[in-house]
Amino acid sequence: MSNSDNKLTKEQIFNWVAYFLITTSILLAIFLLANNTMIINFFNDSENKSFDYRQSLLVKHRHLKPSKDIVIIAIDDGSYEYVLDKYGEWPISRSVYSKIIDRVEADNPKAVIFDLMFIKSFKSDIKADSHLASTMAKYNNVYTAINFDNQSSDVRTPTVLPNRMSVKVENQSKTIDIEKDFGYSNCRVIIPQILNSKTKIGMININRSEDGIIRQVPVLAYYNGLYYPHLTLSAGIDLMGENTGKFIIDKKSNLITGNKKIPLTTSGEVVLNWYGPSLRTYKNIPFHKLIKSIDGDKSIEKYDFKDKIVYIGTTASSLFDTKSVPIDKIYPGVEIHATYMNNLIDNSFIKKSSATTNMIIILALVLIVSFIVFKSTSAIFATTSTVLLAAAYYLASYYVMSMFNIWIEVVVPLFVTLLTFAISYLAKYLLKSRDFEQQYRLATTDGLTELYNHRYFQDSLKKQLDLAKRYEQEFSLIIVDIDFFKKFNDTYGHQVGDAVLKTVAQILKRNTRATDYVCRYGGEEMSIILPQTSNKEALINAQRICDAVANTPLKVNSNTEVNITISLGVSTFPQDGDTPQKLIECADKALYYAKEHGRNQVGKTVG
Ligand code: GH3
Ligand code: MG
Ligand code: MG
Repeated sequence: MSNSDNKLTKEQIFNWVAYFLITTSILLAIFLLANNTMIINFFNDSENKSFDYRQSLLVKHRHLKPSKDIVIIAIDDGSYEYVLDKYGEWPISRSVYSKIIDRVEADNPKAVIFDLMFIKSFKSDIKADSHLASTMAKYNNVYTAINFDNQSSDVRTPTVLPNRMSVKVENQSKTIDIEKDFGYSNCRVIIPQILNSKTKIGMININRSEDGIIRQVPVLAYYNGLYYPHLTLSAGIDLMGENTGKFIIDKKSNLITGNKKIPLTTSGEVVLNWYGPSLRTYKNIPFHKLIKSIDGDKSIEKYDFKDKIVYIGTTASSLFDTKSVPIDKIYPGVEIHATYMNNLIDNSFIKKSSATTNMIIILALVLIVSFIVFKSTSAIFATTSTVLLAAAYYLASYYVMSMFNIWIEVVVPLFVTLLTFAISYLAKYLLKSRDFEQQYRLATTDGLTELYNHRYFQDSLKKQLDLAKRYEQEFSLIIVDIDFFKKFNDTYGHQVGDAVLKTVAQILKRNTRATDYVCRYGGEEMSIILPQTSNKEALINAQRICDAVANTPLKVNSNTEVNITISLGVSTFPQDGDTPQKLIECADKALYYAKEHGRNQVGKTVG
């Protein structure tokens, strides 16, 4: 009883060890995969697409309401046609923008932000440029843009930027590398009148992901040893009264200024949460209508910019300032900036789950899936549970993004789930076949002597007889009985009796061929089937076994040795019979003869 209990525990331990080994090998495989650039890129790309999909679903269900305070004065296709018609050129004279600033500022807006760059050009009209610069400087809430790039200084002399534009930055993060992540070697020159005025100027760069889709935007530029904040970031923190002139990037890669805490990616950017539904998320006022209304056209509705954050930028497809974003293939740059501002106001930037979180998620999924597969008795149950788990995880990733603005990875975790399912299933199958082997061994052998059992002996004898008949070959059978075995039990106890049985079994095994079947016939009787063996050979073999047993004393305790002897009987097919019964009977008779004639010998066959 206790013996069989022990066996079960051993089996269980084996299974847990196998389970552990499989789990670790899956994790190792993942680790190795994670070091291959091509695979990393593939997974990154797919993860980005899954982000886009989640965002597209979210904007359809309008989880975030676009701010009503953000309006866009849009140079749309209609406006572009209108200005070409009216002024005969693009870009138009900068005096037009001065007129617009004055008009909007008359309503007391929160900010006027140009998503337009007033670059130096051959056509620059110095008077109009100076007027624009002084108009901008007149108000303290007008912002305009500058663009950084990595042109070499051979192409363009690096511009010297005024000190007022830069901010202090303290970087405590280990993952963000200021020079690499924020660094630029050059910037485009805007008209010096603006640079030299009091106007606020911010960095307008937007960097595309490898697949050309804009998911994240920069916060700072590092240029000539100084830091320059993004246009929207700079305007946003001014509006919210959080501009302390200093940014801290903390150990967890959050950008901190005043009471604002903005989660950055490992490359120091912010991931935008999209408001949607899609194009024209924010109220668009066509540029040409505003001009008409300024010019006194009474048929145009009266626009009110009080307390608005006003962006001015191009949306016309003919002006090519359209980009691809997660929720739309064609999205105007100015709406991206407006979305940036909306994220800033609502604190809704997307936070990517950390590498540690991702590892924990993957580990948990691996453990759960392999546990399901190993524990479940039905394949359908295991498959359904795994599919449900994967679906639940995907759904959870959607709600986590919706409720907490957190981007948890789905592609790698779901891939790992699938991989774990496949590998555990395979492993389980292998373990099961090993289990069958074990069962088979238990069913065919005798527990004490580890010889084949009686049933196996009977089956083998029948098979051997069939084979021998078909191929017209001889084979022999030896039956062994321990002499005075009862005495061992009676004198030394059953333990010693068992030891005697084991010893004899070992001697039989050692003195036979690997192709012979050594079996426990029952009690203290054993039998050996010797395929393709003649009577003469079997008798010699039997005598050798008899001698071997007689010459092997068994130590029963520290000062007693016992000598065991056995009696044997041999029979051979076909001469002694052609059925199992006849062969056994004949061998038994010979055994009886040996017992009758003094034991410790091979009995003569008596016909
Ligand atoms: P003989 O020389 O005539 O064969 O005498 P024997 O004592 O060997 O023969 P007998 O048939 O009288 O006794 C066989 C004994 O073997 C009886 C039984 O208690 C004992 N026996 C059978 N199976 C086992 C076993 O698995 N373990 C032990 N210890 N004894 C067993
Ligand atoms: Mg007996
Ligand atoms: Mg006996």
